[in-house]
Amino acid sequence: MKSGSSGAMSDDYFRFMQDKMKQLEDTNNMLREKLVTIEREWHYYQDMRVRYERKIRDLNSELDKLRTPPLIIGTIINKIDDKRMVVQSSTGPKFVVSYSSQFIDASEAVPGAQVGLNQQSLAVVNVLPSAKDPSVHGMEVIESPNVDYSMIGGLSEQIEEIREVVELPLVAPERFERVGVEPPKGILLTGLPGTGKTLLAKAVANSTSATFIRIVGSELVQKYIGEGARIVRELFSLAKEKAPSILFIDELDAIAARRVEDGTSGEREVQRTMLQLLAEIDGFNPRGNVRIIGATNRPDILDSALLRPGRFDRIIDTPLPDTEARKEIFRIHTTKMKLKKNMELDNLAALTANATGADIKAIATEAGMLAVKGNKKAVGMEEFDIAIRKMMGDEHRKYINMKEMGVMFA
Ligand code: ATP
Repeated sequence: MKSGSSGAMSDDYFRFMQDKMKQLEDTNNMLREKLVTIEREWHYYQDMRVRYERKIRDLNSELDKLRTPPLIIGTIINKIDDKRMVVQSSTGPKFVVSYSSQFIDASEAVPGAQVGLNQQSLAVVNVLPSAKDPSVHGMEVIESPNVDYSMIGGLSEQIEEIREVVELPLVAPERFERVGVEPPKGILLTGLPGTGKTLLAKAVANSTSATFIRIVGSELVQKYIGEGARIVRELFSLAKEKAPSILFIDELDAIAARRVEDGTSGEREVQRTMLQLLAEIDGFNPRGNVRIIGATNRPDILDSALLRPGRFDRIIDTPLPDTEARKEIFRIHTTKMKLKKNMELDNLAALTANATGADIKAIATEAGMLAVKGNKKAVGMEEFDIAIRKMMGDEHRKYINMKEMGVMFA
């Protein structure tokens, strides 16, 4: 009896203990899960703390930077040794200043580079990066211009020549290597404004899938006084970066006119720009995939140094179009126009003696506009007549006569 009841008790106790153990195990599991969650959260907050600390450090250093006095901008003229260099400050005077080769990258600190100078000691604090955005300096950069040879009227000989000296070295450099011949480094296009020089350069860039980079000489010296030489350097480095590329320098005479020692600072500035241009041309590989094309309507005033072998050593002249060429240019600029059936392009060509390609384009556009204004269905001789009279008026005649008389104009 006693043993029976004690047996039942131990059963109960056993069950009680089992329940208790299960409860404890559950609690233990729950606590373990909680621990995992807490640990995870701890890691998360730890991460956050590190991130915020970093942010605070960044903001503090940003604040420090904002509190530092401004630097004076200067341009390196030349390096004296690995501790000192001659720098021209933006206000004009030149200084011998010190720099630490530990903080300044020697390959960046080249003559012409812009630097930040400490206000008091004028020590070089850093080398400023060159402006990467070409539009800042008025450069026109077109990855692939949409002009092809078929859009150029009448310049077949010039196209032939430019293909030979610009296109061939880019598309088949091995031909030059095989026979050990160096292609001309630079091409100079000469001719009146509007005779298709830019068009030729763009077409050759298109046919070689090269980037077309254009800069206008006169803008370079007028807009960026004191910076011409640096911009020329940047122009060439941009051309190398974008290679294969065609570097087109329009109005080359503005930076490369014959040197006259008049001692003015403007003259010195132009000279510096031109010397940099010569240095860049001399320093680059004629077999590389950058081609330079210069354009001018004043080849007579160019400095002869520029025309020496190994520089702009091939001159291609773009003449005024003859009758046949004018007809061809009219055809090009009227292909998209609806012309009246009786329109003869021969007549237009005959009526526009001495017109340039740009004049012809303007005539075609003007005639088209007149037809639109008059609500016509097609453009006819009537509109072209008015347009020709308007575009080839007295002014034009005077201009052409002057040229024929050999009077030079800028
Ligand atoms: P500038 O010296 O003023 O830069 P340019 O000789 O470079 O003049 P372009 O810019 O090539 O002249 O020509 C101006 C425009 O005239 C061109 O966009 C083109 O539409 C037209 N044009 C000039 N010549 C021709 C040509 N031979 N065939 C077809 N279009 C032409």
